[in-house]
Amino acid sequence: MIPTPMLLVSRCESCHSRFLPRPGPCPRCGSSAVRPQEIPPEGRVLAATELTAPAPGFPSPHRIALVEALDGIRFLAVADYLPGLGAVVPIAREGDHYVVVGRPPEPG
Ligand SMILES: [Zn+2]
Repeated sequence: MIPTPMLLVSRCESCHSRFLPRPGPCPRCGSSAVRPQEIPPEGRVLAATELTAPAPGFPSPHRIALVEALDGIRFLAVADYLPGLGAVVPIAREGDHYVVVGRPPEPG
């Protein structure tokens, strides 16, 4: 199995906060000393839902999960299954969005 690549986030050199990559200064302190940083590609599931009538261009059902990674950074990720609340799942970036990688283990 291929390991999931590290996730790239932004880290402020002034206040040391980390956040999703975005253009511009630090959203907490306004410093422009923002650098990319890699974090482990996993997080804890805070919420998950299944949309039966998703926006145009998305398959139905469309499952999404809110996943919290290191330092409280939260990702909204597309999932092939509904992960359980509190589960620690691998996350990857695919194009312009994040995904929950893989499927849950088979029961039994
Ligand atoms: Zn800052």
